[in-house]
Amino acid sequence: MNYEDLMKRAISLAGQYKYTAKPNPVVGCVIVKEKTIISEGAHKEFGSHHAEVNAIEAAKKLQGITFNSFKELTLICTLEPCNHSGKTGPCTEAIINSGIENVIIGAQDPNPLVSGSGIKNLIDHGVKVQFGICSDLIHEQNKFFFFKNTKKRPYITIKIASSKDGKSHLINNDRTYITSKESRKDVQKLRAIHDAILTGGNTVINDAPKMNARVNFPVNQPKKILLSSKTNFDLSADFFVDCDYEILSETDINKILNQESQFHEGEYCNQHEAVVHGQNTFSSQI
Ligand SMILES: [Zn+2]
Repeated sequence: MNYEDLMKRAISLAGQYKYTAKPNPVVGCVIVKEKTIISEGAHKEFGSHHAEVNAIEAAKKLQGITFNSFKELTLICTLEPCNHSGKTGPCTEAIINSGIENVIIGAQDPNPLVSGSGIKNLIDHGVKVQFGICSDLIHEQNKFFFFKNTKKRPYITIKIASSKDGKSHLINNDRTYITSKESRKDVQKLRAIHDAILTGGNTVINDAPKMNARVNFPVNQPKKILLSSKTNFDLSADFFVDCDYEILSETDINKILNQESQFHEGEYCNQHEAVVHGQNTFSSQI
């Protein structure tokens, strides 16, 4: 396997956790000796160990069996190793302490405040670093994360249920589906991949939605953001039960986006996406 193939293997490992690592980016890592894989790791769940640490810990168990010294090994990771303490210690420290002397990085961290500092720290400690292998694939894999950090606003997906003639409900307000069974299934996955779902008060009152991601795999459930000036919601309704929610009376969409951009000040850096549900009037203002 060449380094590109090995990076693709790390990308594939990362991708397995796209529903549970969020709002962090997905990250994968392989450690190799002469291009043969010794160990692998991924960032599996928000708040848990990072890919590099998992791969290093797995390699430690094989020292003396498949390799003798960490100096023989090369660590290949999809995203620049973090250089600051969040929920876990910095990955740069774990790499330096392990004795690994060669690191290959797919893409640099997009956050201008930290971008390059992980690479610099490794180089300052005598580690040889190469980066930029398969970076397009890594940008695509973490497109919400890169968007948020380069544009300084959330990546927004708008979901509108509309009839062919642009209508959203019956004239007498009776509840009815205007989407197909398949599209209702798709929307569960769409919810599962995003960090937050934003909707309006009338949708919550008229449709009584749960608005969670109902999928048959583990998922870090999206936060619910309700835009409404009303204050008399029934908080025992399905929408509010057993979830992280926030009610905002703010009507200025730019203020909301700025505020929500700060949401999930994570161990990597900020990231936020919203699936916007509901009325065309709101969507058209974005
Ligand atoms: Zn890390």
